[in-house]
Amino acid sequence: MNKEKNKTLLQGFEWYLPEDGAHFDTISSKANELNKMGITGVWLPPAYKGANGASDVGYGVYDMYDLGEFDQKGSIPTKYGTKEQYIKAIKKLQAKGIKVFADIVFNHRMGADGLEEVNACEYVSNDRNNKMSEAVPILAWTSFTFPGRNGMYSDFKWNHSHFDGVDWDDKSKRNGIFLFEGKSFEQNVDRELGNYDYLMGADLDMDNPEVIDELDKWGKWYLEQTNVDGFRLDAVKHIDFKFYTHWLTKLRKESGKELPSIAEYWNPEVSSLCRYMDVSGNVTSLFDVPLHFNFFKASTGNAGFNMSRIFENTLTDKRPDYSVTFVDNHDTQPGQALESFVLSWFKPLAYAMILLRKDGIPCVFYGDLYGIPHDNIAPVYGLQKLIYARSCFAYGTQTDYFDHENIIGWTRSGSPNYPNSGLAVLLSDGPAGSKFMCVGANHAGETFVDLLNNCNDRITLDEAGCAEFKVNGGSVSVWISEKAI
Ligand code: CA
Repeated sequence: MNKEKNKTLLQGFEWYLPEDGAHFDTISSKANELNKMGITGVWLPPAYKGANGASDVGYGVYDMYDLGEFDQKGSIPTKYGTKEQYIKAIKKLQAKGIKVFADIVFNHRMGADGLEEVNACEYVSNDRNNKMSEAVPILAWTSFTFPGRNGMYSDFKWNHSHFDGVDWDDKSKRNGIFLFEGKSFEQNVDRELGNYDYLMGADLDMDNPEVIDELDKWGKWYLEQTNVDGFRLDAVKHIDFKFYTHWLTKLRKESGKELPSIAEYWNPEVSSLCRYMDVSGNVTSLFDVPLHFNFFKASTGNAGFNMSRIFENTLTDKRPDYSVTFVDNHDTQPGQALESFVLSWFKPLAYAMILLRKDGIPCVFYGDLYGIPHDNIAPVYGLQKLIYARSCFAYGTQTDYFDHENIIGWTRSGSPNYPNSGLAVLLSDGPAGSKFMCVGANHAGETFVDLLNNCNDRITLDEAGCAEFKVNGGSVSVWISEKAI
């Protein structure tokens, strides 16, 4: 019998946190609460200085050696605090047995210190295999010298030879997709727009050995400085699919640490995610983006979504061992680049589906757990209870009842390692209803109640541990043994 406690990750930030340099302290202060709730891992935001300084969410990477330590881009701290506060948050979480996942942004750099004249060809913005012009001189923001850091930790300076291209010509003062002369877009990347190597800023050239060597050195430095446990890898569909096979394998070997990783490959097609897994050699787990879109569609579908098919064509279905499930994140929240925010009525249903089933490791969104004050969005109803239920009750054999287009359910039989564990979940994206489900003979005669208090019934299981369980319309009920309350 597997005694390991269920893993539950938390994305420890949302887009609109206050720009007060206090978030790492907030995380420190929540370490105990998160552990008690059942959180086993926290993904912290990018901790290095971004082009927009203390107001940069972290993805506009300027200097990866500045973890809120040097007076650059207008401040010493990042949006989330100083290096000292960052390290303290990591230690506080780890002291509570919570693993820390660092956000790694290697695709691009922003906010260069100087311009360089470079010959570049322009490409069609939505067809990156289509060249519009022969090479002409442009002025590119590609010189990164980090004068504010003055060579501390590393004397590596970036110039145009380390990048493939940019999207701004400071000579003609206009946007475009500019590929530097002698460079090519990397080929092992997502095929959206023909070739989606270029995303933003100055795009790193992963064919340049100096770049690979520098990223290897930085990884070693970062691990020594922070002692993080694993990584969340940003924007991997824009980076050569074999880059992280190299980077992670080398760092894992040299550090002797497991360094579990979760990569963001933003594509609703599961075939694209599987292709990344195959080419990269399963070097990292991936977020289940197709499942997020199924949740979004179901939440906006006015009961028209066939709930019995909600896991079809998801990573959780195709590659369960490498799937990290999520409902929303900092990019899908209102106002953000990939906005597709699951409607609030459906959120408890979606969270039940990622937290209380056996496949996939769930990653809870900070904005769902604590709300998004910027948009007056309240915390998701019952979410803390669902996380707790995963930690204490969602064990044992899973039996599925995915046999109706509105009402689906499943049961977990429980485990002797977790007293009074086992549960029955029933949810509906349409009208109220009920379903006959079996939890297991080990629960014969027990009385089950709804942990979420959506239904007030007390349901007694028969001698085989089965009963007719209920759910309200557009709702979810999580039935657990009354003895567990
Ligand atoms: Ca790229």
